[in-house]
Amino acid sequence: MNLILLGPPGAGKGTQASRLVKQRGLVQLSTGDMLRAAVAAQTPIGIAAKQVMDAGQLVSDAIVNGILSERLDHADARAGFILDGYPRTPAQAQELDAMLAAKGLKLDHVIELLVDEEALVDRITGRFTCAKCGEGYHDRYKLPAVEGVCDVCGNDVFKRRPDDNAETVRTRMAEYRAKTAPILPHYEAMGIVAHVDGMADMDAVAAAIDAILDA
Ligand code: AMP
Repeated sequence: MNLILLGPPGAGKGTQASRLVKQRGLVQLSTGDMLRAAVAAQTPIGIAAKQVMDAGQLVSDAIVNGILSERLDHADARAGFILDGYPRTPAQAQELDAMLAAKGLKLDHVIELLVDEEALVDRITGRFTCAKCGEGYHDRYKLPAVEGVCDVCGNDVFKRRPDDNAETVRTRMAEYRAKTAPILPHYEAMGIVAHVDGMADMDAVAAAIDAILDA
């Protein structure tokens, strides 16, 4: 099963994708995670992408298409994948079609998480993750049970994304509206789009996604 999770920043794509990884053995292909890894490793791609990412703008299609295509060739992607944060422009959607056709793969579902943008700013500006295992937390909605200690792995170092501030979040949302939302009609024409209320609580969102995947 291959799917795309679509929705503005903070809609819950990453949260739902990691749940699907655990429960269904799919792999999560997040171009944002791949780019952050490149930034951390200071590769040429990372160095080129950092400023653009910090400003909340989109990295060039050529760079992102290249890293995604390379990642799709890893054997684990054959078991089924979740695209999280890709495609983000009509050109990327076109390139994805060509890539999948060339690799003998196809998309089964595009799930769009519908959300209220003002509420998202509040969601995003409080989020942080365990620096070791990646478990997600939130200043107001999900603090670790013991202050300063990760519930999952016991680590005591946490991190925040540099682009999770209110100003950058608004730019990222504007980018979503202007460049990413226009790719939906392409998938609607293929008859594979479903919509889920991303403002519902995490379990309700999970149940709605499961109902689509199991239909
Ligand atoms: P994300 O983790 O998906 O919110 O992505 C973080 C940042 O990485 C975005 O604001 C963009 O700067 C960049 N990025 C991630 N995926 C893409 C993509 N498919 N196309 C262009 N830029 C991307």
